[in-house]
Amino acid sequence: MKPTPRTLSVPILFFIAIVIAALAISAQVPPPAGQTPPPQGAPQGPRPEPVKPPPVAPVPPQPAAPASGPKTAAEASDYAATSTYAEVMAFVQDLQKLSPFVRLETLAVSAEGRAVPLLVVGRPVPRDPLALRYDKRIVVYVQANIHAGEVEGKESALMLARDIVLDPKTPYLDRIVLLVAPVFNADGNDKMDPRNRMGQVGPEKGSGLRHNGQNLDLNRDAMKLESPELAGLVKNVLGRWDPLLLVDCHTTDGSFHQEPVTYSWPLCPNGDPAVLKYARDKMLPAVDATLEKKYGTLALPYGDPMDFRDMSKGWQTFGHQPRYMTNYVGLRGRLSVLIENYNYADFRTRVAGNYHMLQALLDYCWANSAELQKLVADADARAVQAGLAPAETDTFGLDVEVKPLPGQISVQGYEMEAPPAAEGAPQGPFPRMRPTDRKKTYTMPYYADFVAKRSVRLPFAYLIPLAGTEVADKLRQHGIAVERLTEPVTLEAEAFRLKEIKGAERLYQGHRTNTVKGEAAVEKREFPRGTWLVRMAQPLGRLAAYLLEPESDDGLLVWNYFDRDIVAQWGRGAQTYPVYKLFVPQNLASEGIE
Ligand SMILES: [Zn+2]
Repeated sequence: MKPTPRTLSVPILFFIAIVIAALAISAQVPPPAGQTPPPQGAPQGPRPEPVKPPPVAPVPPQPAAPASGPKTAAEASDYAATSTYAEVMAFVQDLQKLSPFVRLETLAVSAEGRAVPLLVVGRPVPRDPLALRYDKRIVVYVQANIHAGEVEGKESALMLARDIVLDPKTPYLDRIVLLVAPVFNADGNDKMDPRNRMGQVGPEKGSGLRHNGQNLDLNRDAMKLESPELAGLVKNVLGRWDPLLLVDCHTTDGSFHQEPVTYSWPLCPNGDPAVLKYARDKMLPAVDATLEKKYGTLALPYGDPMDFRDMSKGWQTFGHQPRYMTNYVGLRGRLSVLIENYNYADFRTRVAGNYHMLQALLDYCWANSAELQKLVADADARAVQAGLAPAETDTFGLDVEVKPLPGQISVQGYEMEAPPAAEGAPQGPFPRMRPTDRKKTYTMPYYADFVAKRSVRLPFAYLIPLAGTEVADKLRQHGIAVERLTEPVTLEAEAFRLKEIKGAERLYQGHRTNTVKGEAAVEKREFPRGTWLVRMAQPLGRLAAYLLEPESDDGLLVWNYFDRDIVAQWGRGAQTYPVYKLFVPQNLASEGIE
């Protein structure tokens, strides 16, 4: 029988009290010198034998560190360690003493109180973003350590920032202002343990935890913005500096191949298609070629085999939803690149690979800065134009599925084999097969084209007749322009009548996410004074639609922001979703919200 408080007997309660007292005493005993207790959430027990990875070839050349200037913890330890938060800050301060081309801003203050540093690198450093208004320089933002066990981006971004500012011959800064957030997840970073990310090959002294100080995965927070890090990113980087490219550095899990670097583009099919296609079909193929020819580093588009037992079936990327940072940036009409370095390459190789990938991206941005400026300006203009007079063809895709891109992808892998029966199959979703030392190139379809199975029309505006400010505040947090009606108005608008609401059984990122079913119906109704108004004629119109469409797979309805409004509190059944779509452009008396 499961004990409940009522059935606990006095001796059992006495025993529990003794155990609690013993634990309290032991918690106050300091650990022996040189040992710290494993951080909360770290795997327990001894570190297992490291995976013996098949070779990565050719190994990327090591970047040459300048004779002067600070060294990262990775360089100083011969790649046995990664930088702590304090070491990152000391590196940046040392660099500032040597160069006037680096300024430090604060991106966010983490849940545990760490100021997340943002380096602004420029020649000269612009005083603020407005100072760039009549300047032809573009802004590129590099972010590392969002998952704080995936650490080579942190080391390589710091190294590259140093090498750029200390070498007057580097070409980038005449056309680029570089922003670097080397330790985005500062709270996760310092909870280092060699047992975190057990499959990863180094650094042997350990790396940090995936989640932030709130136990959130920051690379799932881009739509709900519930972490200080993401809120700070949107306000102080995307909103303030408006970089035309965001680069987010990670380390892979699971798949086996020889290429040390993998990458992806903004995948979400509801963003501006021209931005997605530019990143996928033009920019990244060129960057990949530069990486190999100029920097001796092999790369391939990110993915995992669909079936480790039959590698020919296909190579599949991750999800399309904008909760993932790089997809979110695409939805904002800007370019983004996900870097995923190969988990089974040693730490030194991963740092070098990431370093060269950043170089190849900066090379591309430097050579094509005017074209990139035009690309994102055109995306903004298209969004505004479409919102002013939405056409039947301006649609929002639903029920997104992944299809193969045209052509095939080549992956330089290994012949795979089943582990001997005595060893048993490895646990978990990843591989039940293991690689041999025999290299083998696989050619297969690449499942990375996200296509909507159905779509709905985008409106002229969304109307939200709610008194509360929570939804409006969340939209404004993204930088979306929100207005209020200054007088009541009767309009024909499309409502969404909910028929079914399902909350997920399992908690996910602190939420029981909703999925809903229902049907759209045109209603004539009065919208009172104070109704929230979100016009689509704004650069972030597509993002607003993703947050507000009732059947969106990553909107505010999914993330529980409408939970109090979509069920009848005292009756039965579902309500009408309190967001209405107005299709016909018209003059509405409204005021902006500051
Ligand atoms: Zn990651």
